[in-house]
Amino acid sequence: MFSRKKFILLVLLILVIFLIIFVPLILKVNEGQRANLSKHTEIIMDTTVEITTIPFDEKAVREAFNVIKETNNLMDDYKRDSEVYILNRQGENRVSPFTLEVVKKAINFSKLTGGAFDITCKPLVDLWRRAGKEKRLPSPQEIKEALFLVNYKNIILEDNLIKFKKKGMGIDLGGIAKGYAVDKAIEILRKEGINKALVNAGGDLYALGRGPQDKKWRIGIQDPRHKGKIVRIIKVEDKAVATSGDYERYFLINGQRHSHIVNPHTGMTVENIPMSVTIIASDTTTADALATGVFVLGPYKGMDLINSLSNIEGMIISETSEGMEIVTSRGWMQFQASDF
Ligand code: AMP
Ligand code: MG
Repeated sequence: MFSRKKFILLVLLILVIFLIIFVPLILKVNEGQRANLSKHTEIIMDTTVEITTIPFDEKAVREAFNVIKETNNLMDDYKRDSEVYILNRQGENRVSPFTLEVVKKAINFSKLTGGAFDITCKPLVDLWRRAGKEKRLPSPQEIKEALFLVNYKNIILEDNLIKFKKKGMGIDLGGIAKGYAVDKAIEILRKEGINKALVNAGGDLYALGRGPQDKKWRIGIQDPRHKGKIVRIIKVEDKAVATSGDYERYFLINGQRHSHIVNPHTGMTVENIPMSVTIIASDTTTADALATGVFVLGPYKGMDLINSLSNIEGMIISETSEGMEIVTSRGWMQFQASDF
C-alpha cells in the first residue's frame, strides 16, 4: 500500500507531466488561431486601414499596406507634392498610371450619376470646410463662384497629361481613392497567392474569398445615429462593400449638421436625407464612387440608379419624421444575414 506521502508525490508527478505535455499544446493552438486570423492596422489617409489575411502572411500584408500608402501619396490633394496637389496648383500635370486610371474612372462615374459624383467639387468642398471652421454658412456669392469651377466635363485628358479648362479648378479624389487603394491592395494579395483576405479602409472594403471557419465574411452596417450599433449584417465573398454616411465626418453650423459630401448641382452640402448609403459591388472603386454619388442623388433617384445597374446592390438609410427608414435594392436580401 502507498503511504500518504507517496500518494501525494504521485499526484504531483502526474500533474507536472500533464502541465509539461498539455500547456504547450494549448498555447500552440491559440497561437495558430491568432496567426491564422491576425488583423493588422495602420492609419493612412486619415483612416484606419485594416488588413486581415488567412493565413497571416507578413510579406503580402506589408506590400498591401505599401500600395495603399503609395496611392495616398499620389492622390491626397492636401499632401504637399502629391500628383493631385501639383495638378491643382498648376492647373495641369503629367501623372502616373494610377492617378490617371482613378481620374478616368471618376469621370465615368460622373456620367453614370448625371454629375452627382464629381471630383471637380474641390472648390466647393474647400469653401464648406472653411465655412465650417469659421462656423458660418457660405454666402450665395461664394457658392456661385465655387460652382462656376465645378464640372467634370472641364477636365481635359491628353495621354498622361491632365488639364483644367478653367483657372482655379481643382480635383478631390476623396470619394473614390480609398476604394481604388483597397482594390490595389487586393491585387497585391492575390499576386502573393492569398485567397482569403479582408482589406478595410474606414468602411470601404473588399472581402476576398471566404472568412474564418471557411464561412462568408460577415460585415456589419452601422446605425448612422448610434455609434457602435449595427443595423444589418451582410455576408459576402469576393465582393466590395462601401458606405458613405453623414455620421463620420460632418460639421455643425448654427446647430445644423453638414455632411462632407456636396451637391455639385446646387453647391450645398447634402443634409439628413439620406443618412447613409451602402453599396455592394464587384470592385471597391465602384462601390466607393457609387456610395458617394447615390448619397448626393438621395433615396429615390439613388435607389432607381442602383436597381438599374447589374451586379450592384445597395441600402439607403434615411431620416423621416417617423424615424429611420431603410430601403434596399431588389437583390439585396441575398446578402443579408438571416440570423440578424
Ligand atoms: P466618401 O466618404 O467616399 O463618400 O467621400 C467623401 C469625400 O468625397 C468628401 O470628403 C470629399 O472629399 C469628396 N466629395 C464630396 N462631395 C463629392 C461629390 N459630389 N462627388 C465626388 N466627391 C465628393
Ligand atoms: Mg465614396
